[in-house]
Amino acid sequence: MTLHNPIRTSGRNTSVRIGLDFDNTLADYDGLFATLALEEGLLPGHGPASKRDIRDRVRALPNGESEWQRLQAMAYGPRMSEARLMPGAARFLDLAQRHGIELTIVSHKSRRAAYQGVTDDLRDAASQWMTALGFGAYGLTPDRVHFEDSRAAKVERIHELALTHFVDDLEEVFRHPDFPPDVSGILFDPRGIAAPGAFRRCATWDEIAQATLGAVHAY
Ligand SMILES: [Mg+2]
Repeated sequence: MTLHNPIRTSGRNTSVRIGLDFDNTLADYDGLFATLALEEGLLPGHGPASKRDIRDRVRALPNGESEWQRLQAMAYGPRMSEARLMPGAARFLDLAQRHGIELTIVSHKSRRAAYQGVTDDLRDAASQWMTALGFGAYGLTPDRVHFEDSRAAKVERIHELALTHFVDDLEEVFRHPDFPPDVSGILFDPRGIAAPGAFRRCATWDEIAQATLGAVHAY
């Protein structure tokens, strides 16, 4: 009988350092935006939809851009606690932690919403959401979470952290001229709509786990 236990339970594994985007990569707002659009009476008679569908429909309304900014401010601020962890992400975080792999979150998130009527600190809201979901148990303590003011600053942080992989739902991050070429870009593309680029496309967090942890975890 062969004992097969691919899980390392102690020590750090420094050969893989994975950076993660936050909004729409770890935090799933689809249900929350549907709830907010319904509550605000913006899309009467409209059934369940993704954040992207809701965005497109709200923006098409009279004063739609402002309404969309208002919904975003609510979702990322006072209603943040209703966002969900992206399906499959918990298993990835757990596997990475059990293999001793360093995770870091690098997020382009301003402190204040563009919509003036909401004054909540959006970074605090995100931090509280992560604490409530027990992110510290995955090694994602506050010192391992970086909020940046711009995409350029985010890309610079990814470079500075000397990551081996970065996972993001926005291909613009990987297409940024300063995105470090030695960092493997993993595009989280659950709808499978991205054009090919200098990144690997993954539709699920299980695929992301295979793309990033495949070298240290037997599937
Ligand atoms: Mg994102």
